[in-house]
Amino acid sequence: MSTAIINPADETVVAHVEFADREATDAAVARAVVAQRAWAALAPAARAAHLRAIADMVEAHVPELADLEVANAGHPIGQARGEAQAVADVLRYYAATPERLTGSQIPVAGGWDVTFCEPIGVVGVISPWNFPLPIAIWGVAPALAAGCAVILKPAEWTPLTSIRLGELAREAGLPEGVLTVLPGRGDVVGERLVSHPEVRKIVFTGSTATGRRVMAGCAENIKPVTLELGGKSANIVFADADLELAAASAPGGVFDNAGQDCCARSRILVEARVLDRFLELLEPAVRAVAVGDPRSETTEVGPLVAAAHRERVASFVDDESIVAFRGTCPEGPGFWYPPTVLLPPREHRTVHEEIFGPVVVVLPFEDEADAVALANDSIFGLSGSIWTRDVGRALRVSRGVQAGNLSVNSHSSVRFSTPFGGYKQSGIGRELGPDAPYAFTETKNVFLADS
Ligand code: NAD
Repeated sequence: MSTAIINPADETVVAHVEFADREATDAAVARAVVAQRAWAALAPAARAAHLRAIADMVEAHVPELADLEVANAGHPIGQARGEAQAVADVLRYYAATPERLTGSQIPVAGGWDVTFCEPIGVVGVISPWNFPLPIAIWGVAPALAAGCAVILKPAEWTPLTSIRLGELAREAGLPEGVLTVLPGRGDVVGERLVSHPEVRKIVFTGSTATGRRVMAGCAENIKPVTLELGGKSANIVFADADLELAAASAPGGVFDNAGQDCCARSRILVEARVLDRFLELLEPAVRAVAVGDPRSETTEVGPLVAAAHRERVASFVDDESIVAFRGTCPEGPGFWYPPTVLLPPREHRTVHEEIFGPVVVVLPFEDEADAVALANDSIFGLSGSIWTRDVGRALRVSRGVQAGNLSVNSHSSVRFSTPFGGYKQSGIGRELGPDAPYAFTETKNVFLADS
């Protein structure tokens, strides 16, 4: 079945992609099972060399991959370049792993116990459309480093850069079947990866609703699963903060990637006594966000990914009375939506549901305890920011907010050298950081009798 891939900035057809069916998925798994044995048997240094070779190949193709993402996902060109470069960086970071995945030796009665970190086998990586390349590589690189084979299923709307990544890996000399990119539908290829007994682990990034289903499917096979799911992160601004800086950076914290970011700070909580001043500073910053042609170097925010997604985002803002102010966006073809700031009551659905578009709610709070309670009043717990000049408060609030990734006086969320993941319904498990490859191994202990 061939599916048309649409450029979200002008609604033209970029490519047609053949989607895999269940039989093709089973065939890919069978090839991966064979390839994984040989991959795991390679000397660790040889696996590391392969990862570095793929990184070099990707780096040489950053402009091509970036152009492809601009056309497929509507990401601004500067951002798209950074995403492609991140693939090379993450591969190089985990290239250090194969030679360092050591077990241990444990003295026990009657002998010694040695442990081995054995690769778990074939891993299914199911990725979303919002950051196709970076999110794919967060699963792919540590899994390959650990000696696993990977089947990557990109999202239906954005498969092009993942397909190209698979080709580049082969061109760089990665043996066939070690990394397979399998475009297809979630309810066909995705579900089959989840149910296939030879796929020994699932790394899923996507919505909480689909994640729940994936987890249930994995339970059928007692299959380990990492879930990176939705968010509704709080950006907490205290009265003692550098308000100018907090307001100037708040639009980037939520509107980057058109708000299609699991870590988007989509709830701005402001200490009530500085709310008016903060809004005064925020309004020009929001109006200044450059929304437009993603091919332009000066564009900060592109279109939403698809018509259906824009409809969903727009459906949240059906009541104009809660709109405080808006930025601008192009008219005509393309799935455009302007940066939008809402002042809703605390119980409004825009305060609690993930909109995943350029829409932010601003809510006042009374004091530190109220701020923490408000931040935690969510089924999600992925990210968040805390703006204050008081170091003690920054520490207290960081400990109090139930979220996996926080930043103080910054909106930084993801660094490949630090662990990333969510609390509550934002997910299970951590990706990235030095320990990520261990999640793709089984620990085996072997007792050696000394008599
Ligand atoms: P989605 O859940 O619709 O789809 C994600 C992936 O799952 C796609 O590849 C899809 O084809 C596949 N899929 C769909 N149904 C499936 C099924 N039954 N079995 C197996 N796979 C299936 O999510 P999306 O709309 O692509 O992405 C947006 C969501 O992802 C948002 O909620 C966002 O917060 C979340 N997200 C989370 C993180 C994180 O790291 N926590 C990062 C990015 C995006």
